[in-house]
Amino acid sequence: MLSRYLRLKYIFYPFIIVGMIIVSCTQHEDATFWTFPNSLLDELPPQPGEKSWYFVEDLKEPMWKTQPWGFTHSGSDQADLSGGVNLDADFDDPQGRLETAYSDLRRFVAAGGVPTDSGAYLIKTVKDQRLGEEAFRLEIGSRVCRIIAGDIEGIRRGIYYLEDVMRSLRGPYLPLRTIERRPFIKRRISRGFYSPIKRPPKMRDELIDTVNYYPDEYLSRLAHNGINGLWLSVSFRDLVSTKFTPEYGKEAERRLAKLRRTVDRLLDYGIKTYIFTIEPRAWDADSPVLENYPELAGARRGNGQYYFCPSSETARQYLYESVNSIFKSVPELGGIINISHGERATTCLSAVAATSSFNGHIKCPRCSGKEPWEILYNSLSAMERGMHDAAPNAELISWLYMPQSQDLADWVYKIPAHTPRGVILQFNYESGVHRNVFGKDLVGGDYWLSPPGPSARFARLAKIARKHGTEMSAKIQTSNSHEVATVPIVPIPSMIYQKFTGMRHLKVSHSMLCWYFGNYPGMMNKAAGLLSFEPFPKNENIFLHRLASIYWKKEDVSAVVEAWNQFSKGYANYPLNITFQRYGPMHDGPVWPLLLKPADAPLSPTWQLGGYANNRWPPSGDRIGECIPEPLTLSETLELCRRMSSAWNRGVAILDRLRSHNSNEPERLLDIGLAKALGIQFQSGYDILKFYLLREKMYRMEGIERLQILKSLKQIINTELDLDEQLLKLCKQDSRLGFHSEAEGYKYFPDKIRWRMHQLRNLLEQDVPELSQQIRNNQPFFPTYTGQEPTGATAYAVVTDSSLWQSTKWEPPSNLHWQPCTHGSGKLDIKWAASYDDDALYILVSADVAPPSERSSISNVLVKVEPRRLWPSYHFNFNPTSEKWIKRNQDFVASESVKGRIINKSDRCYAILRIPFERIWWNGEEMHPIRIDVRVRNGVEETSAWRSLNPTVPRLNLGEDNPVDLGWLLFGARM
Ligand SMILES: [Zn+2]
Repeated sequence: MLSRYLRLKYIFYPFIIVGMIIVSCTQHEDATFWTFPNSLLDELPPQPGEKSWYFVEDLKEPMWKTQPWGFTHSGSDQADLSGGVNLDADFDDPQGRLETAYSDLRRFVAAGGVPTDSGAYLIKTVKDQRLGEEAFRLEIGSRVCRIIAGDIEGIRRGIYYLEDVMRSLRGPYLPLRTIERRPFIKRRISRGFYSPIKRPPKMRDELIDTVNYYPDEYLSRLAHNGINGLWLSVSFRDLVSTKFTPEYGKEAERRLAKLRRTVDRLLDYGIKTYIFTIEPRAWDADSPVLENYPELAGARRGNGQYYFCPSSETARQYLYESVNSIFKSVPELGGIINISHGERATTCLSAVAATSSFNGHIKCPRCSGKEPWEILYNSLSAMERGMHDAAPNAELISWLYMPQSQDLADWVYKIPAHTPRGVILQFNYESGVHRNVFGKDLVGGDYWLSPPGPSARFARLAKIARKHGTEMSAKIQTSNSHEVATVPIVPIPSMIYQKFTGMRHLKVSHSMLCWYFGNYPGMMNKAAGLLSFEPFPKNENIFLHRLASIYWKKEDVSAVVEAWNQFSKGYANYPLNITFQRYGPMHDGPVWPLLLKPADAPLSPTWQLGGYANNRWPPSGDRIGECIPEPLTLSETLELCRRMSSAWNRGVAILDRLRSHNSNEPERLLDIGLAKALGIQFQSGYDILKFYLLREKMYRMEGIERLQILKSLKQIINTELDLDEQLLKLCKQDSRLGFHSEAEGYKYFPDKIRWRMHQLRNLLEQDVPELSQQIRNNQPFFPTYTGQEPTGATAYAVVTDSSLWQSTKWEPPSNLHWQPCTHGSGKLDIKWAASYDDDALYILVSADVAPPSERSSISNVLVKVEPRRLWPSYHFNFNPTSEKWIKRNQDFVASESVKGRIINKSDRCYAILRIPFERIWWNGEEMHPIRIDVRVRNGVEETSAWRSLNPTVPRLNLGEDNPVDLGWLLFGARM
C-alpha cells in the first residue's frame, strides 16, 4: 500500500520550509523514490490514530494525587506544616488569575495528607511594590510564611517555589529562613507539545478547530516548570483585513475568538500567548493588492513573487494597521515572535542570504541604496508602533533565523545596533557552534542541546546588542532537540546549566525555549525555569543536586546526578552536523530495516512522517552515507556513536539500580524507562552504522574469511531483535516514546517495532543462510553493485602525467575513452573522457564549435561524483565565465567549484576540470570504481548529459539526486 503512495504524482509547494531552512523547488511530475524492497513496504503498519495519543490524557491528570513523603519529623530549623495549613490569600487579584495557584497549593499539601484551611500554619500573601515582575520573597517562620511579591506572577512563583522546597525535603516542612528570587530571563517561551504545526502535510490550524490543546493540568505543569509564554502560529492575512487588503481575514473573527479564549486560559497560569509569524509576507506576482499599491512590491523573486517592500508610507501603514488591529482585538496577547529574515520570503532584505554581501543584490527601487538594517528597521518599527499603541506591555521579538554553518556576512552584525527601541532581537543560541574531533572541525547548524552554546556569532551579536541597549532573546532547545526528538525529555540538565550560564553572562533577557519539539513539561524545562532566576547556583554540581532532589529520594540524589553526568558526557559525542540529525538513525533506528543485500534505498527525514502532498516517506534504507556528516568518515562517526552509546548505557545502569526502591513512584519509573529507551535508540543507531560498515567491507572481500563478518552481522541482527523486544515493553508503558511533535505522529510505535522484528527474523531465516552458502560456494558478492563487474553505462579513466593539466600546447591524449553526452536538450556533439594521476581526477569535455547564436559550446560543466556506494553525489562545478567561487558547504550536498580550463581549437572546443582526490575520498581510502555523471551546458542554457535525469522527491539538504542517474567510472582499466 505504501508503494502506491510513492509513485503518486505530487505538486510541490514553491518552498519547502521544514526544520526551518528554505529549499526552493521546481514542480516535478512523476518524481519517484528509487528502489525500496516493496515486500517490506506492503506490510508496513499504519500510523496510530490520534486517539492513541494517550499522553494527552496523562497531561490532563492532576499533578498531585499522593506525595511520596516518608518521614514524620521536621528538623529543628524547619517549620512543621503537618498539622494543617491555612491560606490567607487576599493579594490584589481582580481577575482571579491566582486561583489556580492557590488551589494547586491546597491540593499539593492535601495530597501529602495535610489538612488545608483548618490548620495552625498560616501562609499569607503580601504585596511589596519594590519587588519587580515575578520576583518574590518567602519569609518563613515557625508559624507563618509570608509570600511577598510586587505582582501576582511573583506570588505564583513563590507558591511553586514553596512546593519545590517541600518536595526536596520530602515532607510538609519548610526551612526557617528568608528566600528571595528574581528572574533575569524574564520571558521563557515554550510551545504546545501536541498542538498543530500549521504546516504541510496536515496543515492543521489550531485557531480554526474546536480542540482545546491546553488543558488545565497541562498548563499547570508548564507553569510549575517556570514557563511564562507559549507561541502559536498565525499569519496576518488569516487574522486581519486592512484598508489595503480588504479581502484578507475571511475567517478572522472565528480565529480571533479562539485566540482570545486561548490567551485567557493561559493567563490563568501566568502564561502569555505569543503569536508566531513570518511577516510581512512576499506578494504573489498576481496579487490584486499590488495593482492598487504598486509601492508595496519590492525586488522580484526568481519564482515571480515580489518581496514586500517596507520602504514606503503605504507599507508602514499596512504593517501598523495589521498589527494594531490584532492587538486591539486580543488585548491581553503577550506579543509577537516574528521571523524577520531567514525563513520564508518577507521584506526586500530576503533577497540577500545571511552569508552573502548585500551590495547589488537588492533590486528594489526604494531599498537598493539602503543598508540591510534600514530595510528591517522600516518593517519592525511600523509593527512595533502598531503593537504598542494598542498594547503597551506586549513584546515584539524579531527572530533572525540564520542557522548556516558558514560565517555570517558583516551586515548582520550591524543589526543589533539599529534595532528599533521596544523590539527584542532573537538569534539561535547554538547555530555556528564548533567542535573538533579527530582533528576535524565540525560545525553545528540550528538546534543543539549539546554543545550548549553560545556560538561565537551569538556572543558577538549579544555584546553589540547590550552596548546599544537592545534587548536580546536566545532561541534554544530545552527538553529535546533535532539530535533526537522522539523521546519527550533528554535528561542532560548540565547542558541547560551551561546554556543559562552563558545567557546570564551575556545579559540575555528572553528565551524561546523550543521549536515544535523540545517542550514536554518535566525536568529539563524545570531546570530552565530554575536557572532563569537569581540567585544563580554557585556551580553546576550544586544545581544538579538541587534539581534531582525535587524529584528523587534524598539517598538517590547523588546516583541520579552521576547518571545525568554520564548522559551528558556521552551525548557530547553526538556527531555535530545537521545531516546526522536530519537523516541519521538516532530518532528511530529501532524500526529501520536492516538490509543484508544492497537496495540503494534512501534515508528518510527524521522530523517527518510524510513529505508534501501527503506522500509518506518510506522507512530508512541502506544509503547510510546520506547521514554521515562531512568531513567525518563512517568509521569516525561510528566511533563517536560508540562513545555516546556506551556512556549513556553506564548512566542507565546507575538509574536501573534505583528501580526497585522507587517502585511506588510511577513518575520515576517512567524517567528510568525513558532513559532506557534513549539508550536503546543510541545503541541501535550505532548498530546500524556498524552493520553497513561491515556489510560493505564484506561485499568487497573474497573467500571464506567473509564468514567471520557474516557472523558479526548476524550478531547485530540478534542484538537488534533483543533491543526491539525491550523497546516494545517500554512503549507499552509510556505512550510518549516515539512521538515527534514536528512530525505530528509517531516515528516508532509497537506495531512498527513488531514489523521490524519480523523483517529481522526473515533475514536470519533467509538472507543469512543464502549469503553463507554463497561464501561456501566461493561466489563473489554482488559484483554489479560493487563495480567488480559493472553493468550499464561504464567509462574508463586512463593514467596521465602532469602535462595534460599544465601544458600550454595542449592536445587531448589519444588513448582517452570518450563517452557521448546524448541526454538533455543540447544539440551539439559533446563527449567526455576521464584521466587521472596520483592526486586528481581530470574530466575532459570535447564539443563542437558552437554557432554564434549559441554564444559558447561550454558555459558550464557539472560533474556528479558518488564517492562510494550509498553516499550522496558531490557536485563539482566548473564555470569558465564566472568569478564566483563556491566552497563546499557542510550543511548541504550542493555544488562546489573546481578549477578548469577552456581550450579552443579550430574544429573543437575543450574543457578540462581537475578534481582533487582529496575532495572525493577520505584520507587513506583505497582507489575504487565510482559512479558519475557529466552534464555540460552551452551558452543558451541547453544541457548535454551522459546520463538521463530522473529526479527523486526532494529532501532538505540532500536535494533530488537519484543514484540510478549515474554510470560507472573505472580507474586504470585498459580500453
Ligand atoms: Zn524595497
